[in-house]
Parts: sequence; structure tokens; C-alpha cells
Amino acid sequence: MSFQLPDLNYGFDALEPHIDTRTMQIHHGKHHAGYTSKLNAAIEGTDLEGKDIESLLSELDMSNNAVRNNGGGYYNHCLFWEVMSPNGGGSPSGELHDAILSSFGSFEDFKSKFSAAAGTRFGSGWAWLCAKKDGSLEVCSTANQDNPLMEGVGCDGHPILGIDVWEHAYYLNYQNKRPDYVNAFFNVVDWSKVEENFIRARG
Ligand code: MN
Repeated sequence: MSFQLPDLNYGFDALEPHIDTRTMQIHHGKHHAGYTSKLNAAIEGTDLEGKDIESLLSELDMSNNAVRNNGGGYYNHCLFWEVMSPNGGGSPSGELHDAILSSFGSFEDFKSKFSAAAGTRFGSGWAWLCAKKDGSLEVCSTANQDNPLMEGVGCDGHPILGIDVWEHAYYLNYQNKRPDYVNAFFNVVDWSKVEENFIRARG
């Protein structure tokens, strides 16, 4: 059983004007498809074959660069598509709202912290909102296609929201203006999905 490129829950043009159609098409159809097929090739015939993606990444020998990069790329993009929606934006409610207040003070303080993590990640990588088992939240960032499920990347907890800050995620529309892309991302975040992720991660 190999990993499959997931379909999006919305059209390639559905996140306009915040994320443009062409970027979505290339990002999903070329980049994410590439990580998926390279991950499958890297695990084929090894003892990693058949593991679910979260176990695979959390137990990974980090010197296995093919699986680290392509398994990370596979997982990260699956999460990224899921936490965006054409009906997104606004702010979290319910238990996630309460957890954000208790961990960051306010939603605005969380946004500043998350935007700073996304803005200051040098080169390519991701910024994350992670939930720990005790229900607290943390913002962090990782390089390349690493993610907080992996050992020793400087991020704990389970990722419940992530933003891709590789140039391929925004360059066509925003060029070098990564902060504008990060601001726009908040207009498409599906907070109900993030809350669902939070409740599952907290256990
Ligand atoms: Mn990407």
C-alpha cells in the first residue's frame, strides 16, 4: 500500500485572491505529487513500507534523507491543504480559542508569534502551531520539509496548523514579499479544522 496524493477539498481557484490558482496547481500537482512518488520509491521494499505516515516520521532515522525530505513533504502538504478553506479566516472558537488565550494571551499575540516564525525562517521551511499532550500550544518553525513529529528538530508537540514558506508556495503572486503571503494565509485558515486537529492531538 503506497501513499496517495490526496485530492483537495476545494478547487485550485478557490483560495483566490489569497493564494492564486497557478500556484495551487503547481504546488499540488507537481511539488506534492513529487514528494509522494519519491517517498513511495524510497520506502519500497524496506521495513518502512506499510507504516502510517505519522509513525514513519516520528520513528525515523534522521540520517535517511530521502524519507526525511519526501516523507516530510508528503505529510506537511497533506496538513497544509486540510487547514485551508475558501470559507476560512476569522478567528478560532471553542476549545481552541481557550487554549490560544491560555498559551499566548490573545489571538493577536498568537498571530504575531506565528507570523514572526514564518517570516524569520531563513530559506525554505515551515512554521507550525503545535499541541502538546497537556493541551498547551506552541509556535515553532522547521527547515526544509522537517516537521515537529520528527526527533531533534527543535519543535515539540503535534502539528495542528502549518504554513509552507518555501518560495514555491508564494513566489508567483507575492515574489519576495513573504510577509504579505503570511498575512493573506490567515484569510483562508479553516479554524474549525484546526480545532479538530487540536482535540485529536491533545488526546
Ligand atoms: Mn510546498
